[in-house]
Amino acid sequence: MPIYDYACDDCGTKFEKLIRKEAEAANLDCPRCGGLHINRELSLPAAPLSSQQSMPTTCGVGPSCGASWCQRK
Ligand SMILES: [Zn+2]
Repeated sequence: MPIYDYACDDCGTKFEKLIRKEAEAANLDCPRCGGLHINRELSLPAAPLSSQQSMPTTCGVGPSCGASWCQRK
């Protein structure tokens, strides 16, 4: 069951909605203002493209950034 991102045109609220059937997607209203002008947002990849090309093993210069992948001590 897909979860879609929606944005309300009236108040700008963004929310996620689990869509079990198409009829539900067609009858959405805003959880905040009740408006019916709801737009489905395009879902973006979780990670930006640049970070998918090569995972760094350190954070560069300076003290450790504390990230789990960072080997800088
Ligand atoms: Zn709204």
